[in-house]
Amino acid sequence: MPCDYESLAKLGSIMGSGGMIVMDETSSMVDVAKFFMEFCMDESCGKCVPCRVGTAQMHELLRQISAGEATARELALLEHLCEVVKSTSLCGLGQSAPNPVASTLHYFREEYEAKIAAGEAAAAGHTPPAGGAA
Ligand code: SF4
Repeated sequence: MPCDYESLAKLGSIMGSGGMIVMDETSSMVDVAKFFMEFCMDESCGKCVPCRVGTAQMHELLRQISAGEATARELALLEHLCEVVKSTSLCGLGQSAPNPVASTLHYFREEYEAKIAAGEAAAAGHTPPAGGAA
């Protein structure tokens, strides 16, 4: 695949400042989303509430999911915040902050669900399902 603006746009992606991150199948997509949300949270100027509060809330929800402390309720709240922060933030930073979450939820939703299932199994005193502790 050509690595240019038009080719990436056809795939629904964007070319930023030129960085490219290569990951293999051992990378946790939940943790990848958490990493990028922490960046956006730190870079938020704080002028508008959706970005200032929303990125912090999304980061906390991602932390809970990653740590196995979340339920389907937190996942639903995370998805809702993706829409709210994207549609109500004032500038491009806040408007694009949910992208890594929305993208990983679209392509790797099973990783989020596995984290939640593993956490719920552990809380119930059961052995986590195969792959759930990833
Ligand atoms: S969306 Fe833009 S203006 Fe609003 S807090 Fe984030 S960086 Fe500041």
